[in-house]
Amino acid sequence: MMGPAHSLSGAAAWLGVGAAAAAAGSPMPWPVVLTGALICAGAALAPDLDHKAATISRAFGPLSRWLCEFVDSLSYAVYKGTRKPGDPRRSGGHRTLTHTWVWAVVIGAGASALAVAGGRWAVLAILFAHMVLAIEGLLWRAARGSSSDVLVWLLAATSSWIIAGVLDKPGNGSHWLFTEPGQGYLWLGLPIVLGALVHCIGDALTVSGCPILWPIPVGRKRWYPLGPPKSMRFRAGSWIEVKVLMPVFMILGGVGCAAALNMI
Ligand SMILES: [Zn+2]
Repeated sequence: MMGPAHSLSGAAAWLGVGAAAAAAGSPMPWPVVLTGALICAGAALAPDLDHKAATISRAFGPLSRWLCEFVDSLSYAVYKGTRKPGDPRRSGGHRTLTHTWVWAVVIGAGASALAVAGGRWAVLAILFAHMVLAIEGLLWRAARGSSSDVLVWLLAATSSWIIAGVLDKPGNGSHWLFTEPGQGYLWLGLPIVLGALVHCIGDALTVSGCPILWPIPVGRKRWYPLGPPKSMRFRAGSWIEVKVLMPVFMILGGVGCAAALNMI
């Protein structure tokens, strides 16, 4: 799928989790609903860091271009190193390592560890990175153009600063789910894991499938391209994605949000 569909599905997924939490009788504080949805929308773009043309690889200037090259080479090396006889030869790392459940868990756990160990500045850095991605993903065309990068960064920096200030207030969510002292912001990894998984599911619906299960082998393949039957798949960027899936994600997100906040 393309950037905006990934971001919308990420936000909708977190709002769905919020609705489930409210239905189970322990609703999230509203800043957790909002922040989690934005982080998840941003994290749902992150797996495409292995692809030069992807939104994320252009979102942070030279830094993300350099990171993209590194992730692409790393993914390709891991692919070659763990390939079974049934896996095809390929020439780059796109849609391999970063499109697996292992990557999702490692990145999420890493973010949680960073947030707990690094304190306020680490939390701000995690928020900033994901706000930039969420803005790029959700506003998409509006955030395009050579001069808009700085505006997106400014908007992300100010919103991160404000969100961190709101979350820091007692009962607002810095200690949501993990309530012991020293566990503040441990939950930040959860929307990051969810976003990456939702990205993989979105890609699995497209023609080429997605090797989510790696390194668990399926038959003669370790990079088995998971997905529905071929006739149910669509091309990335096709009308189904823009005209059907994106409106559906918006409606589900809206309903989920209202349910998460106990408004319905
Ligand atoms: Zn992808």
